[in-house]
Amino acid sequence: MAEPLARRLIDTWADQIRSGFILGDPHAPVETRFVPDPESGVTFRLRWLPHRELRTDTGALESRGILNPDRDEAALLRDPRDPSGRHCFLCPSNVRICHPLEELLPIRAGGRTWLAGANFAWLAQNHFTVMTDEHVDQLFDRSVIEAMLDLQDQTGGEFRIVFNGSHAGATIPWHLHVQITTDSFPVEEIAPHRISRYPTPLRVFDGPRSIAMDVADYVASWEERDPHHHRVNLLVSLREGVPIVYTFLRDTRVTVARNKGLMGGWEVAGVFAYSDRRPDFEGADIESVRAAFAEVRPPDAP
Ligand SMILES: [Zn+2]
Repeated sequence: MAEPLARRLIDTWADQIRSGFILGDPHAPVETRFVPDPESGVTFRLRWLPHRELRTDTGALESRGILNPDRDEAALLRDPRDPSGRHCFLCPSNVRICHPLEELLPIRAGGRTWLAGANFAWLAQNHFTVMTDEHVDQLFDRSVIEAMLDLQDQTGGEFRIVFNGSHAGATIPWHLHVQITTDSFPVEEIAPHRISRYPTPLRVFDGPRSIAMDVADYVASWEERDPHHHRVNLLVSLREGVPIVYTFLRDTRVTVARNKGLMGGWEVAGVFAYSDRRPDFEGADIESVRAAFAEVRPPDAP
């Protein structure tokens, strides 16, 4: 029996597929390659998701009704720090103007208001971006992990919650957001005695809700060492009824791998998403996967 929030999210996802808002066919099997890692015991998952190429194709998005061709550009909120001059893709007011088909589901979590919107360029099943109602920076602190744990709790553990540090997977650093999905991640398979053999710096926190403070302290100690470059990616999941937080150390200087492209929170948690670079997808093996992880290892990770 699904929790009310999980039910509402899953129903919204189905509605958004029916309305034509979701690219590709999320019901069709995704071409997937499984790459076992004998070192960590984790089997990495490489997914071919060509529909994601359309996310930057303004003409295609307009003709499908995903992007409003009559949007009033002058009415869109822009962050003055964004060198590209683009509007903020996550401001709810901008979403309402640009994507009239998108349903925004309001959620209270961690003492603030968030809005969940289905990700039309989805990476996984029931993939939503959950953004704050206010335009505030993508900074990690204790309130963010508390909101992530709260969100997960409200979905009865059916949804995983992912946080990407700004310029370390998150390409929109001006607006606080997390991503959620009902799909699992390969890193969740890791046995405790093998955590140190995972191919990128990983700390796992589990236990009761007081883990929020432990995670926040751990992340703060990393980010304070080099505030310009040190970031994290986080995954909140549930194991045997207990919340578990996977914390990956990141550095804004090393976020792209030669044989993969951008390495975000999904990749460090074991899901490599490809939408072009077909030869890299087909040719990947455990050596190239570990090489991609090695390229984004923070230079001064412990
Ligand atoms: Zn915004």
